[in-house]
Order: sequence, then structure tokens, then C-alpha cells
Amino acid sequence: MARFDNKVAIVTGGASGIGLATVKQFLSEGAKVAVGDFSDKGQEIVDGLNTNDNALFVKTDVTNEDQIKNLINKTVEKFGKLDVMFANAGILNDGDITDLELKRWQRTIDINLTGIYLADKYALEQMLKQGKGGAIVNTGSIHSLVAMPSITAYGAAKGGVKILTQTLAATYAKQGVRVNAIAPGYIDTPLLNAVNPGLKERLTKLHPLGRLGKPEEIAKAVAFLASDDASFIVGDTMVIDGGYTSV
Ligand code: NAD
Repeated sequence: MARFDNKVAIVTGGASGIGLATVKQFLSEGAKVAVGDFSDKGQEIVDGLNTNDNALFVKTDVTNEDQIKNLINKTVEKFGKLDVMFANAGILNDGDITDLELKRWQRTIDINLTGIYLADKYALEQMLKQGKGGAIVNTGSIHSLVAMPSITAYGAAKGGVKILTQTLAATYAKQGVRVNAIAPGYIDTPLLNAVNPGLKERLTKLHPLGRLGKPEEIAKAVAFLASDDASFIVGDTMVIDGGYTSV
């Protein structure tokens, strides 16, 4: 029996990078997976996974409450229930506070923090209705734990994700819903296209392992946290960072 046989998972931001690697990981372990992403390429990407109808794409902007509700409804309509929420969609478009216009600050907070609030809120509502617990994994960052100059809105949002995770974990543990987060180091995904090549090289050197992480290395940790193997892990922000925060 695979770890996610008879389990249904949602992955937000599942059309690229860490999210897409996690969609593949969940599918490979028997899950049925709904991908919520606002990418125009989402449907094509999910079709390309050739999953024998085990995956569903629902075009979703995670900042839109109605669209998140629709994502949950469509998932339950197709697969019958919801066991796992991986609230992962995020952007990096940041800067020094003196250059960071209010609009850009708000967009980052909306996607990287409010998007997690919405995904968690409606996933919890569905899981509590089902009455059989569930698992939520939120995507934080090493910047949930340590700052970096000019990572202003991103750091504020990711710090918020850590405490939101702990609050929800403490509130819903008794009802069998485990809420955890991940704190990846820098991972080689399209998100890093936002930084210039010089900075990418500098970021690489900040990891004692001497390289950036791979999305698949994060996906394995997410699958662990979402599985029953992590049955006593509640409210954790798991660091997966090639040693970044150790030094
Ligand atoms: P990515 O750009 O490869 O993928 C992000 C996905 O999120 C894309 O498919 C995009 O379309 C989607 N998305 C963005 N805004 C959305 C919205 N409003 N609604 C729905 N979908 C939306 O990036 P990634 O590196 O895989 O990042 C995934 C998560 O991991 C983010 O939360 C990011 O902050 C976090 N993270 C990334 C790194 C890294 O170095 N790449 C490190 C730590 C944490």
C-alpha cells in the first residue's frame, strides 16, 4: 500500500517548481491531486502528467476567496473528499523598503500570506466537516526564520506563515488536523528568475552544501509531513536548506 492511496490532495502553485514536483510526488505515492494555480499553462501541464484521471486542474488565484472555495468544491466534487492541503503558491518581487511601493508590498502579502490563510481556512472547513482529520503543509522559507537585507515583503509574509501555521496547529490538533510548514533554502525554480545571475551565485555560496536545492528535494519533505509517517509532527516549520540557517 502506498502512503497516499485513497488520499486526496490539493497543491496551490502546482503548475511550476516546488508545487509541480510535489504534485508528481503525491501522484507517485497513490494520491489523487487537484492543482490550483493561476497559470494559463496549468491545464496543459496537468494534461501532460498523463495521470489516468487522477489529477485535476482548477484555475485559481489564491488571493481570491471565491476561487479558493471553487477549488475545494471542484476537488470534492471530483474526488469525494479532501485529506491534504499543500498551500504553496508564492512570488518573489521584492526590494529595499525605500523602493518598495505599497502596491508591490501588498501583492506579496496577498499571495504569500493571505493566499495561505484562504487555502488553510477553506481546507480546514472541509476537513472538519468530514470529521476524519487531515494534513496541511504551508510553504514558508528560510526567511520565515532569518532575514536578508531587502527581502522586505517576502520576509514579512513568510514570517507570518510560520506563526499562522503554529496557531492553526495548536487550534486544530485535537480535531486531528495536523498543520505544519516548510522552510526551504534557495531552490532552483523559475521563481529565482527574479534575481540577477550574480545574486544567484552569491545565494548558492550561502548554502554549506555548495549548491541550490532541487524542487524534488522539497517535494519529498512535503510528502513526509503530509503523510501518517509524520503523525506526531504538529506546528513545525521544517528546515530544508542545505545548511543555510546552520551558519
Ligand atoms: P515557481 O515560480 O516555480 O512556482 C510558483 C507557482 O505559483 C507558479 O506556478 C505560479 O503560477 C503560482 N502562483 C503565483 N501566484 C499565484 C496566485 N496568486 N494564485 C495561484 N497561483 C499562483 O516558484 P517556486 O520556487 O516553486 O515557489 C513555490 C513556493 O516556494 C513559494 O511560496 C515560494 O515563496 C517558496 N519558496 C521558494 C524558494 C526558492 O528558492 N525557489 C525558497 C523558499 C520558498
